[in-house]
Amino acid sequence: MNILIVATEVSPFAKTGGLADVVSSLSIEWKKKGHRPVIIMPKHRRIDIQKYNFHPTFLTLLVPMGYWTEYATIWRGKLPNSEVEVYLVENNSYFDRPGIYGDTSEYMDNDRRFIFLSRAAFEAAKALNFKPDILHAHDYHSAYTMPFLKTHYKNDPFFARTAGVFTIHNLAYQGRFDPQATMEYSSFGMKSFYPGSWFEYYGSTNFMKTGIKFADKVTTVSPTYANEIRTEYFGEGLHNVLNSRASDLIGILNGVNYDEWNPETDKFLPMNYSVNSLEKKKDIKYKFLRDNNINDDLDIPLVGMVTRLTEQKGIDLIINKLEDFLWHCKIRFAVVGSGEPRYENYFNYIKSKYPFSSIVYIGYNEKIARQVYAASDMFLVPSRFEPCGLTQMYAMKYGTLPIVRATGGLIDTVQEVIPSQKTGTGFVFWNYNAEDFAYALLRSLEVYSNSELLNKARKNAMGMDFSSAKSAEKYIEVFKWALEKI
Ligand code: ADP
Repeated sequence: MNILIVATEVSPFAKTGGLADVVSSLSIEWKKKGHRPVIIMPKHRRIDIQKYNFHPTFLTLLVPMGYWTEYATIWRGKLPNSEVEVYLVENNSYFDRPGIYGDTSEYMDNDRRFIFLSRAAFEAAKALNFKPDILHAHDYHSAYTMPFLKTHYKNDPFFARTAGVFTIHNLAYQGRFDPQATMEYSSFGMKSFYPGSWFEYYGSTNFMKTGIKFADKVTTVSPTYANEIRTEYFGEGLHNVLNSRASDLIGILNGVNYDEWNPETDKFLPMNYSVNSLEKKKDIKYKFLRDNNINDDLDIPLVGMVTRLTEQKGIDLIINKLEDFLWHCKIRFAVVGSGEPRYENYFNYIKSKYPFSSIVYIGYNEKIARQVYAASDMFLVPSRFEPCGLTQMYAMKYGTLPIVRATGGLIDTVQEVIPSQKTGTGFVFWNYNAEDFAYALLRSLEVYSNSELLNKARKNAMGMDFSSAKSAEKYIEVFKWALEKI
């Protein structure tokens, strides 16, 4: 199958979250299975062209925008250690910027930038003579590929046999914009914008809604999230839209690329370990603590976190309870994260107040993140909502027991440790409140104090298989269903 993937972030070139990892791991699996995935993404300033060996193709794309035409050039490269083709759409006025979506705040012209990317994807496919069976769009940024496929390119023989699949990674980011601008840039015109139209949402355009409405199939990143978002509580205002597509909405659990995420081979760790050499995990913890000027009582449990610092991630629960645990020296805490200033400030405050009990890195850092996965004993993901969540899966692979709230992909991947049965892979709490969170943390400390049980739970966690091969296979099934609709 020829699969044209349009996304704004792809690991390892440019990443802010799980979307980037998923796009690359799925593509690698499809390639292994004999399909031909081709990734189209913006040429962001942060992409290291030399390191990743990108070359200009000297193809110039004419990209229709409204009643005028704009231009893009494309660069060719591959996902590292694979044969997956990646094309970067270069237009410096749109993408030669410090951020992917914004820097201090969201870029004001994200509607225009992403409509340009979406339109350029079609022109790139034609210029490369790559006829896709499936056009696979991810989140609101590439959602406009779905209406483009069904309208502007409907009668283009090049795309006559192409089906559109739209994947929702996070419904919270919908892309709501001024209709005058969106409708002009996308060449639909205000005639297509009226109450109840597929472009309209309470007087604005809403890219997410439009993608959901025009796609042949809609997927999201875990089975539980697929059910949750059809309810008012989780639907972010789009539950009715999603219910209108209920028979085409499928939850596929995200997978992990274990070639990239494996404590036996991880190049970022000071030493490698496996389920049979867990004593080395302890050595990594000791080294990590010492490297961060913590030299005493190294056996106090280390609780880690790697995350975007947004309300979604349950930071408020941590603010409520963390100091109780630190003050009484029950745990040590390590966090790598960046995001909302109020949360960054909070963790800086924790660092200054508990310098020998906390390790705080504010910013994005792959190396330190991986050390936190490996060095920690427990790993926090107390999210308010979580479409899938990759961090708990990575933590499990590194033998670090996740403490999660029972929502979205977290409940699909983590099972409570039951001491009497020696089963389970982590700790789960159901209600979004600080007491339930603290109680889950207490349960984890209980297990930590029983080394036999701890090792068994770690082994259970490390033995879980969330490989991206499985999810890639499920996507192919959905692609086949989508093609049946053409
Ligand atoms: P989301 O996509 O909502 O951010 P996921 O759990 O799906 O959450 O994916 C998060 C990904 O981003 C993981 O690969 C995680 O390791 C990575 N990550 C998040 N914050 C940081 C950070 N500050 N430094 C390094 N990696 C990070």
